[in-house]
Amino acid sequence: MTSPEMTAKWELALKQISQNKRTKDNFVEQIKKFVTKIINDVPGQMEQSMSLTSQVKQQQVSEAKANEQAQLGTCPLCKQGKIVDKGSFYGCTNYKGEKPCKFTLPKKWSEKAIGKTAIKALITKGTTAKLKGFESKKTGKKFDAKLKLTNGKISFDFN
Ligand SMILES: [Zn+2]
Repeated sequence: MTSPEMTAKWELALKQISQNKRTKDNFVEQIKKFVTKIINDVPGQMEQSMSLTSQVKQQQVSEAKANEQAQLGTCPLCKQGKIVDKGSFYGCTNYKGEKPCKFTLPKKWSEKAIGKTAIKALITKGTTAKLKGFESKKTGKKFDAKLKLTNGKISFDFN
């Protein structure tokens, strides 16, 4: 009940008392009931709505964080899907769309684990900063290089 409604009701009750249409006891009883109801209901309702609000907020925040962490950027190939961590590789979320996108990126390249920073740079800029610690499969020699992305394919950029 809103307070203007309540005030109107009580004004009516007071009028009825003055006109002897209602007893004072009856009015007091009504107020007691109303106050008891407020005391019983309101704190619970407030707590409930507050905890619900904070729960929803927390959920939204953690979902947004999870999305942010999972998504490395927009797919450079289809420009619709997002690149996400698929466990053993990175892939496009649009892989089962109407026009399935087959874009993937390896987690390891020439014996070097490719970090998320490098993947992000690859899919947004098409190239990474110089990365250290690649290892040639032929010679076993370690070397540094940039990675670049051409038509969705990863390759070394020694420039
Ligand atoms: Zn894609």
